Amino acid sequence: MTTIATRLQQVHGRLTNACRAAQRPDNSVALLAVSKTQPADAIRCAHAAGQRAFGENYVQEALAKIAQLADLRQQIEWHLIGPLQGNKTRVVAEAFDWVHSIDRLRIAQRLSEQRPAGAAPLQVCLQVNISGEASKSGLAPADVADVAHAVAALPRLRLRGLMAIPEPDGDLESQRRPHRALRELFESLQARGLALDTLSMGMSADLEAAVLEGATMVRIGTAVFGARA
Ligand SMILES: *Cc1c(COP(=O)(O)O)cnc(C)c1O
Repeated sequence: MTTIATRLQQVHGRLTNACRAAQRPDNSVALLAVSKTQPADAIRCAHAAGQRAFGENYVQEALAKIAQLADLRQQIEWHLIGPLQGNKTRVVAEAFDWVHSIDRLRIAQRLSEQRPAGAAPLQVCLQVNISGEASKSGLAPADVADVAHAVAALPRLRLRGLMAIPEPDGDLESQRRPHRALRELFESLQARGLALDTLSMGMSADLEAAVLEGATMVRIGTAVFGARA
């Protein structure tokens, strides 16, 4: 049986190799372990092996695990990477450290209004539908600049960058294409004066392509925890 600690080591090995192939510094890509559908005990194992950032897709499921792992709350960073509805923004603003899936201004405004005063600003990325994603969620690339400037001005949020979920199919070259498009959009926002530092892209099947195109955070589920039920 492959343990979570072993899988984590393998993923770090892939990341190091990808960084070298891209002539980027080792450890220049953060690993977000995607723990959706995995029990709290699996997260505990990953934490014991040194993993600190975890990504969840479903708000209710995440809240249950955050409660089960309350003893580790100060050590774990919780990232919401799944779709967020308006009626869930308050609990998300209260419980998470990051939200990657901001796909409209109204959601960002609510999160900013509802982020507790004593907490650090909520770290956010805008989700972009970069290649007509299967999920269909995310901002159209043409709308991203206006929304980014508006979100960057919200007091209780900190806009960190962009996120996308392209279907990881084809060879390395075709996998690189949507990641390159997201990176170019990211760079165009930086050129317009937005201080962004996070390109959230790359999953188990396409992390190498994402790192070659400049990903700063990859979201890895299966390769860390094994296949989902
Ligand atoms: C499930 C999921 C991932 C991780 O996918 P794997 O293929 O298991 O690595 C990454 N990002 C998002 C948004 C997801 O929903």
